[in-house]
This record gives sequence, C-alpha cells and structure tokens, in this order.
Amino acid sequence: MLQFSELGLPAVITRALEEVGYTTPTEVQAQSIPAALKGADLLVSAQTGSGKTAAFLLPALAKLSERSTGTGSGPRILVLTPTRELAQQIEKNAQTYASGMRGMRTACLVGGQPFGFQTRALSRPVDVVVATPGRLMDHMRQGRIDYSRLEMLVLDEADRMLDMGFIEDIETIVKATPATRQTLLFSATLDGNVGRLARELTNNPERIEIARQESGGNIAEHLLYADDMRHKERLLDAILKDSNFDQAVVFTATKISTEEIADKLSDMGYAAACLHGDMPQSWRNRTLNDLRRGRVRVLVATDVAARGIDVPTITHVVNFDLPKQAEDYVHRIGRTGRAGRDGTAITLADTREFHKVRRIEQYLKRTLPEGVIEGLEPTRRIQKTTGGPRRPGSGGAGNGQRRNSGGGYGGNKSYGGGNGGNSSYGNKRQGGQGGPRGNGGGSYDRRGSGSRD
Ligand code: AMP
Repeated sequence: MLQFSELGLPAVITRALEEVGYTTPTEVQAQSIPAALKGADLLVSAQTGSGKTAAFLLPALAKLSERSTGTGSGPRILVLTPTRELAQQIEKNAQTYASGMRGMRTACLVGGQPFGFQTRALSRPVDVVVATPGRLMDHMRQGRIDYSRLEMLVLDEADRMLDMGFIEDIETIVKATPATRQTLLFSATLDGNVGRLARELTNNPERIEIARQESGGNIAEHLLYADDMRHKERLLDAILKDSNFDQAVVFTATKISTEEIADKLSDMGYAAACLHGDMPQSWRNRTLNDLRRGRVRVLVATDVAARGIDVPTITHVVNFDLPKQAEDYVHRIGRTGRAGRDGTAITLADTREFHKVRRIEQYLKRTLPEGVIEGLEPTRRIQKTTGGPRRPGSGGAGNGQRRNSGGGYGGNKSYGGGNGGNSSYGNKRQGGQGGPRGNGGGSYDRRGSGSRD
C-alpha cells in the first residue's frame, strides 16, 4: 500500500504524520500531493471527510520547508475557506503537520473575532494565512496584507464559498495575489459557477476527481417520515432515548429553531447546546470545546455553524429538518462516522417533503432506507407532488394508496439500547403496496393534489 513517504513530501512532514497516526494517504491525498509538489495548479472535486484538508496543506507546507525567495514578510500560503470553524480547523491541522518545522507562523483571519489579535499576527512575518473571504477583505482594505511573496493560493470548498455569495471578494483577493502563484481549488463539484471560477483562476490545471462515496460507507442512514413538527419532536426524543448514542448533532433549518430545540432537550434532561452563526464567536468556541470534551452530548446546529466539526465521538446525526441543498446532506452526515468509526444518520422528513427527499436521493444516487418507529408511524400520506421522472422501474402512477407503515424495523422495538433486543434500525418492508420507492409497486400518489388521509 502506498505510504506517505513515497509521495515526495519532506521528511519533517512525514514524521509529523506518523506522530498523528496517519499511515497511508487517502485517495485524494495520493493523487493531489504529487501533482501539487510538481507545481501544477489543481482542480479537485472531493468531499469533506475525504482527507482533502491534508491534500492541500501537506504540499503547501512542503513549500515552507524551503526558504522563500520573495521579499517582504506576508503570507507564502493563503487558504480561503467558507466558515470560521473550517478556518480554525485548517489552521490547527497546519500547526500539527508542521510541528517539526521550526518557526512556522500562521494567522487565522475570520469574522466574529476581534481585529486586534489578527492585526498583531499580521504585523509580524507570517507563513500561512487561513481566512474567510469577508474578514480577509477587511484586512486588505486596511492595507495589512502583503502578497508580494505569496507562493500558493488554496480555495477550499469553493462551491460553498460561491453559495455564500463570496464571488466578488474572491475575485478581488485573487487579483491582489501574484500571477506566479500556484492555485489549488477544492470543491464538492467542479460544475457550473465553480467551473467558471476555476477556469479564471487557474493556469493549465490538473483535474482530479474523487468519486463521491456511493454509499454512506460506515454511516448507517435512515429516513423517517413525520406528520408535523410535534411528531418530529416525539421522534427525536425516541431516537435519543432509545439509541445508544454517545454524542449527537441535530440539524435544524433555522437559527431560532436550534435554540428552541436545544432548550427543549435541556428541559428534558439532555446536556444540549445550540450552535449557529449569530452567536458570538467566543460562545461558539466554548460550545465546540464543550462538545469535544463531552460536556455537551447533543449539539443542535445549523448547516453553516456545524461545517468542519471533527469530533470522533459523535455517533449520531439527526436531520431534524431537511437540508436546503442536497450536498449539505453529505456534509451533515459526515459529522459522524469520523476517524474510521461507525455512525448513524437519521433524517426526519415531513410527509409533504417527499420531493425534497427525492432531490437528495438523486444527488446521492441512492435511496435512503425508509423506516418507522413502532408507535410513532406517520398517519399522513406522503405527498408525491414531484413532477420529475421516477426512478427506472419505479412503476406507474399510484393513486393515493396509503403508505404501509407496518413492518417497522424488523418487527419489534426498533431502536438501540436498553431493551435487550438487537436494536438496529430496519428498513421498511419492501414490495407490495406501500413499499419503498423503486420497487415498481406504484405505491405513491402522483396526482399532485396534495390530499391527505
Ligand atoms: P477532511 O476531509 O480533511 O475533513 O478529513 C477527514 C478526517 O480524516 C479528519 O479527521 C482527518 O484528521 C482525517 N485524515 C485525513 N487524512 C488522513 C489519513 N491519511 N489517514 C487517517 N486519517 C486521515
């Protein structure tokens, strides 16, 4: 099996990797590191959890093992990333991988934190700057960033940065950097706007596409339909009560609902906390620390706030609300099953959200196994008002038959722990009327009338 020592990285870095227990490179690392070390620009489609952070940091840090030929004391490496948490994680990883490199200096420039500390860091020589585009622009306007010796620009999660409206900032930042720089762009997708941006920013790039994981791998996924909000709350309670969870992240659609649900869970006796972008950064940091230390067992978060959370003891992800964008589903469930462990991801969907579930499944190119919790089955019919083509073999127009909510998870009590049973999630019974999608049974109402039982 390929070893890090074969990729051409300086020994000082491979030694640090050994210390953190990385033995073999992941696929994205095996492909990206040698290409980046040759000096090529890269366009890499890889997802979170693939090891992409080290895929760009390691060749970036390799540059620092040689003296700068440039003048000035500004950053030699600039990493742009969409969120504060990701930026902090990347800076931490850089310090770990460069632990054997004396005198490497980093600065993390993110919003929501005082300028003073960041400004001081920029007044000294700095090697690596990790930044979110908005705050970096603030520093640039004040004339605090000297790009004269910049060697490498990394855009991490470029698709996400575009989604968040950073395109103009990114273009301004890139224009300020030397044309001689090496550019590495990482993104879940290289299509559409990202592709256009990539063409603008890179020079004869090598394109590396890491296949999206076709299945959740070590993450067991489940889909539960709910009649309404109250029903979802009861499902969440049942999930937390009956699963042997160590720590869980619950995703909601809005900042306010993170607070409401965290409050309810606290009232019910869970060590719960919320995390969203309107909280002061110091408070967010404290919450994340509490999560890492195990003081918080259930974190209720929005998508953006939870990006980049890397806590191996998170055993469960619950999508209390569906993600707005299909790719966010992948980011969300990637909070569990970290560091080679198993995880469970349970998605709750309103019976009126069938079309949103379909969109996620189309993106994933797989169906989410649908189940029920005994005694908490949905009573409303799933509204299949989606106009899109059905999956091949999924059959004709159903006529509003009721879903079969029998079957549960293999008959008996379905959730883990405490009941002496073998307590795993089962899938809803396949076949016959009301089976899951794709069984040819035509069991879904396609009239689009939205009528309910
Ligand atoms: P990322 O996709 O960069 O968020 O990385 C996902 C996780 O994999 C992080 O917890 C990393 O610390 C870990 N990781 C990255 N590369 C390796 C490797 N080669 N061997 C083992 N773990 C790794």
